[in-house]
Amino acid sequence: MAAAARMDLDGNPILPMTICMIGAGGFIGSHLCEKLMAETPHTVLAVDVYSDKIKHLLDPPSAAEGQQARHPWDGRIQFHRLNIKHDSRLEGLIKMSDLTINLAAICTPADYNTRPLDTIYSNFIDALPVVRYCSENNKRLIHFSTCEVYGKTIGSFLPKDHPLRKEPEFYVLKEDASPCIFGSIEKQRWSYACAKQLIERLIYAEGAENGLEFTIVRPFNWIGPRMDFIPGIDGPSEGVPRVLACFSNNLLRREPLKLVDGGQSQRTFVYIKDAIEAVLLMTENPARANGHIFNVGNPNNEVTVKQLAEIMTQVYSKVSGEAPLEMPTLDVSSKEFYGEGYDDSDKRIPDMTIINKQLGWNPKTSLWDLLESTLTYQHRTYAEAIRRAMAKPVAS
Ligand code: NAD
Ligand code: UDP
Repeated sequence: MAAAARMDLDGNPILPMTICMIGAGGFIGSHLCEKLMAETPHTVLAVDVYSDKIKHLLDPPSAAEGQQARHPWDGRIQFHRLNIKHDSRLEGLIKMSDLTINLAAICTPADYNTRPLDTIYSNFIDALPVVRYCSENNKRLIHFSTCEVYGKTIGSFLPKDHPLRKEPEFYVLKEDASPCIFGSIEKQRWSYACAKQLIERLIYAEGAENGLEFTIVRPFNWIGPRMDFIPGIDGPSEGVPRVLACFSNNLLRREPLKLVDGGQSQRTFVYIKDAIEAVLLMTENPARANGHIFNVGNPNNEVTVKQLAEIMTQVYSKVSGEAPLEMPTLDVSSKEFYGEGYDDSDKRIPDMTIINKQLGWNPKTSLWDLLESTLTYQHRTYAEAIRRAMAKPVAS
């Protein structure tokens, strides 16, 4: 019996499409590729300089001797190892596709003030040809921006105990109404946000002047398995990944979790698998997604970074069976941790009206549940490698 046709939100059958996914080998890309292979008939031209995180989708599964095993999605994903900074094959791949999804970027805060030029080039200059090829060839584009384009909240400029700080208009971030508030130029943390903002404006202008069909995604701290790297295990020893991997690394090594400037900044965390559902809805409902900017986050999962450290410590103790440390956290200054020119977003609550109205999407997973599945993965994937690395004598 033939499988029932998959329908979009308006009851129309979804036709198979070819997607050029740039940055497919990263954290979000790897989950999106998995979803597209497991649940849709679409083909992915996966572009990246790395493929480790999608290796399990690309390599044939192991088979009994003499037999050739195949994935059910065999032939629907092709990896193209190329650097979009300088590779003439990019335009051809975009032309062959119905849709381009651009995820490629330098997007780790430790890089924003230490490698500001690479950050600006990666998030603005390198994205320019992608936008141009889509526009010139009448191809749809889903571009990944960031919640960081909002910068600081209006409320953050009021005195600490001012009653207006509690009013949602002073902190909830709305795609079509909130201003973008960055720090001064020497606070190079904001170079990332500024580059992302300018590429958003350029894409919007291509839509307005040349009819580019686009969707812009603003992720609010998506987290889950395969995010970033564990320093010294599958990334550089001196590297500083995003907070989930920093805290996972501390927990795995049984060292205190470092709270930058006391860990008072607030974040909302969304489970990667919930967020990927939103991206799939955008992908398969162009009539509802084109021309829109979408916040994708979970307003119900708000914590300070200090609270995140406390919850991760409890969850890790549960999944690993190890007792928590007596001194689970340690305060460090941002200058010591990130260097000169660091600054921070104070609070990030996404307004969900637009994504809810257009795509009917809502996040489902609580912070505890998403940390439990993520830290179970971290423990299973890294605990043994860390144990071996820590047992090695240090070279004198
Ligand atoms: P990631 O670093 O895991 O993935 C980015 C991928 O792009 C990497 O695999 C990298 O190798 C690739 N890439 C970078 N430059 C490239 C180039 N020149 N040529 C080819 N490939 C290149 O990051 P992620 O978390 O998956 O984020 C993806 C996108 O989402 C980024 O644009 C980021 O700014 C945005 N974003 C993510 C989050 C989040 O919560 N994860 C939050 C805000 C914004
Ligand atoms: N942070 C921290 N300790 C760490 C890593 C990060 O206190 O070991 C803080 C960081 O200063 C920021 C928050 O955690 O306030 C989230 O940082 P992340 O790198 O995940 O990215 P951001 O949300 O700032 O883009």
